[in-house]
Amino acid sequence: MKIGFIGLGNMGGPMANNLLKAGHELCVFDLAEVAVKKLTDQHLGKVTAMSAPKQIATAGMDLIITMLPAAAHVKSVYLGPDGLLANIPQNTALIDSSTIDPQTAREVAAVAAAQGNVMLDAPVSGGTGGAEAGTLTFMVGGEEVEFNRYKTVFTVMGKNIVYCGGSGNGQVAKVANNMLLGISMIGTAEAMSLGVSLGMDPKVLAGIINTSSGRCWSSDTYNPFPGVLENVPSSRGYTGGFGSDLMLKDLGLAAEAAKLARQPIPLGSLAQQIYQTFSLQGNGGLDFSAVINLFRKK
Ligand code: NAD
Repeated sequence: MKIGFIGLGNMGGPMANNLLKAGHELCVFDLAEVAVKKLTDQHLGKVTAMSAPKQIATAGMDLIITMLPAAAHVKSVYLGPDGLLANIPQNTALIDSSTIDPQTAREVAAVAAAQGNVMLDAPVSGGTGGAEAGTLTFMVGGEEVEFNRYKTVFTVMGKNIVYCGGSGNGQVAKVANNMLLGISMIGTAEAMSLGVSLGMDPKVLAGIINTSSGRCWSSDTYNPFPGVLENVPSSRGYTGGFGSDLMLKDLGLAAEAAKLARQPIPLGSLAQQIYQTFSLQGNGGLDFSAVINLFRKK
């Protein structure tokens, strides 16, 4: 398949790499030349670097995938005068895998549909490790028939491909999951800090939580207390992993979506404020489990 790919960052780069390894022909674009060069050097002759979204839009692609930082970038790439929708022919399919708010996803998909282009929102979870290994989870919103049509493409980049319902619902699933993740990480951080300050050994405490009713992913797979688990950010100075500023962005998306739906999210809002504080203190680049440092003695 001829695939256009825009946004070759930490996630998009390895996703495009997996598509190339599976034999797809790619035309790519990223504002950062270094990101493009990394991919073109890896796949000499199999990938074509383009100079703008417009050039990809007019190059006869079967499908165009985007993996961009936030809604503003998605709007500019899709809706700008030199963007995709002003320039693609009808019947070119579009998949946006960026994490953005459901409302923007629905608005952009509606513009695409009005001019005869199918668009799916397909945010991912699984992090950079999952992107490299091709084991991402895709949460997909849009027409089910189109989901089924492009399932084989998703399968090249991911392991768990889930149809979530109509347009925007992939983003809804992502926002709800990540809000819970932020809340559960803060809860785990508080509980671990309390137990240790009252005299418990952190490994023993984590072991009890992980076989009791407090068990959750933040505790049993990604424990924020240093030394409890190996090979997680808390055991390597909170480097790598999922940045606190990315968690803050996702909590902001949940807050925006909740406001529109007039849906109360008291704990989600508190989690947003806690990550805001943490980020303001200069910690936005640390893994999100480093939030435990707010609750521990220096
Ligand atoms: P990133 O910042 O590493 O990559 C984004 C890329 O988009 C960059 O290379 C940037 O140059 C490019 N870009 C920005 N504006 C552009 C434009 N107008 N035209 C072309 N290219 C443009 O970000 P990432 O970590 O790859 O994340 C991408 C998306 O995936 C985000 O929405 C993020 O929330 C989501 N996500 C990230 C992770 C993670 O662990 N990093 C996990 C799940 C989901």
